[in-house]
Amino acid sequence: RAKSMGHNMYVVYQNTMSDNSNAYLTLGGSFRKAIDEEQFVLFYQPKIRLPDEVVIGAEALIRWVHPELGMISPDSFIPLAEESGLILPLGEWVIRRACRQLQEWREAGYAPITISVNLSSRQFMQADLVDMVRQALEDTGVDPQYLELELTESMLMADAQQSIEKLHSFRKLGLTLSIDDFGTGYSSLAYLKKFPIQTLKIDRSFIHDLGIDGDNDAIVKATIAMANGLSLKVIAEGVESRSQIDSLNGYHCQEVQGYLFSKPLPDVEFRAFMQGYVASPSCSKGVLLQ
Ligand code: C2E
Ligand code: MG
Ligand code: MG
Ligand code: MG
Repeated sequence: RAKSMGHNMYVVYQNTMSDNSNAYLTLGGSFRKAIDEEQFVLFYQPKIRLPDEVVIGAEALIRWVHPELGMISPDSFIPLAEESGLILPLGEWVIRRACRQLQEWREAGYAPITISVNLSSRQFMQADLVDMVRQALEDTGVDPQYLELELTESMLMADAQQSIEKLHSFRKLGLTLSIDDFGTGYSSLAYLKKFPIQTLKIDRSFIHDLGIDGDNDAIVKATIAMANGLSLKVIAEGVESRSQIDSLNGYHCQEVQGYLFSKPLPDVEFRAFMQGYVASPSCSKGVLLQ
């Protein structure tokens, strides 16, 4: 039923995503079936470069389009997928879908942008993760520099030595590596520098209070300054207002992501967003069509 409704359904479901649907979910066989039947879909949230506000990438965010329950948010089912181990086939599907998406946009003539994919703890611990990603890149012919992986501090800290080796293998493949939700874990920036990462994403809880809470501004400003000093790129997530952009420009933040620009969008709407961005007279330099 979901399929026959086509792409418009996403708009309907987007604002009614159920967050308390855990109780209704039965994983196991139905989850596996959901993977086989492609009940999952990737949405894409634009990443915007500052200060010129060009679209330079997208974060892939998974949704489960459940035949009865509608759109289910990842916070509801990723933990369950972790517990059951089904995160491994699901995670592979996400990587492959993201790679195919990169090729599809390319074939449609869009200027190249990156896609960032979130990894979960169990997936990151998977012994053949690097091989799986290498194979996905090979099979789809994607230039690895356009694929970025988002990891969290706690994932890296679980086994720091092994993490460092794994990250080096990914770097050898040519991928970009990013720390997600930065500031919510326990690691210091100095310690993180032991990991071969390129990007920090400042958690949206810090961005939310920009311009409201002075201490918060100090933390964001200092984090960006230190990251810049360590040659790491900084992205602010959860940007919802122009005044936040003004602050972030003042602190020399390189990229932003948030509802101010767009919610995560299905493929078709993401393309429309990129085109609208070019056409909009208020924006001089959107993504360019080749
Ligand atoms: P995340 O990676 O930190 O993703 C950012 C979350 O913040 C997304 O929620 C996004 O929709 C939301 N967001 C973006 N801009 C704003 C904003 O301006 N305001 C507010 N309030 N929220 C904003 P979403 O899509 O529900 O994803 C939640 C989490 O689920 C993600 O957090 C990520 O940890 C996880 N996740 C999503 N997709 C995947 C996946 O494919 N694999 C894995 N392992 N985890 C995923
Ligand atoms: Mg993320
Ligand atoms: Mg995040
Ligand atoms: Mg998160």
